[in-house]
Amino acid sequence: MAVAIDPVHLSADEKVRATTVDLRSDTVTRPTPEMRRAMAEAEVGDDVYGEDPTINRLEQRAAEIFRREAALFVPSGTMGNTIAIKCLTQPGQEIICEERAHIYNYEMGMLARFSGCVPRLISAPQGILTWAEVKKSIAPRIYYRAQSALVSLENTNNMAGGSVYPQEVSDEICDGAHEAGLRVHLDGARVFNAAAALGKPVAEITRKFDAVMFCLSKGLGAPVGSLVVSSRALIDEARAVRKALGGGMRQAGILAAAGLIALEKMPARLKDDHANARFLAEGLGRIRGIRIDAAKVETNIMVCDISSSGMNSVEFSRRLAEHNILANGVGPTAMRFVTHMDVDRAGCERALQIIEEICRA
Ligand SMILES: *Cc1c(COP(=O)(O)O)cnc(C)c1O
Repeated sequence: MAVAIDPVHLSADEKVRATTVDLRSDTVTRPTPEMRRAMAEAEVGDDVYGEDPTINRLEQRAAEIFRREAALFVPSGTMGNTIAIKCLTQPGQEIICEERAHIYNYEMGMLARFSGCVPRLISAPQGILTWAEVKKSIAPRIYYRAQSALVSLENTNNMAGGSVYPQEVSDEICDGAHEAGLRVHLDGARVFNAAAALGKPVAEITRKFDAVMFCLSKGLGAPVGSLVVSSRALIDEARAVRKALGGGMRQAGILAAAGLIALEKMPARLKDDHANARFLAEGLGRIRGIRIDAAKVETNIMVCDISSSGMNSVEFSRRLAEHNILANGVGPTAMRFVTHMDVDRAGCERALQIIEEICRA
């Protein structure tokens, strides 16, 4: 009898990795072979001296793509948001944002820590604020009231299930806020997902914001890095704040090289992640014990309710992990699933099959 030839030899670790479907976040994406090659060959210099040609090119391309005067490369989205908000506020002021906002919940209290500001939270269905709601929460101009200085929107809204701002809604908030003397920041960690869902260029959907932060390290697949785009004046100030936070990097063109590929090539494939998310959501909708409105899944993130499965999210994710399906709980009975370039349709099918078995058991 012929002996089967197994041409691929995987270590035990690699075998687990090859069969794991990691739906915890799009931050788990690994750099592509093209990114790794570009990193190895990157031209570099000292960026604190402004001499890293690859970082300079990345910042210039980001500014062009967003049709802004300038951009700044930063190590993380959190640092990008922190810097932008520092540049747009003064201590003692209020920042209006949605209650599930990343800047409020997952950035170590940075509003207070680095900008000396307090949040004014609004709860919004699907995480999408409207000008009517924002307007109501602007503090009256009385000397003993902390003054509202900034509105911060998140597009897509992560914890609301990757929801997207219709352009007229975010435009109206920007126009209203500006008229009221406030500035507007965009936490656009996944703004390319929003652009893909809306079928519009990022420059168009972000044009009214005073400063935009976006991540290369999420769905775009770069290993590290985010950018802030804005006016030349704000970016000059942002560069100084980045240094003060310890974010002045040296030959980081190695990272920017991967970032350039993420920026130029990866936005075009986000629609595949969205199609996989829709597929996954529709499948989840058919499983007893799971509640999800698949029609509301617009991008690569979904949050579903598992309360009628009889499990809480800790047990649920543990059961999934036993079958190499990874997903995070985001509430006692809420699970979040995120699709990305390292999960294909077959992976989504496998995840659905396991989830179905777990719910049936
Ligand atoms: C991931 C994320 C960020 C930034 O996160 P880092 O891990 O610091 O890069 C900011 N906002 C939102 C909505 C995010 O999902």
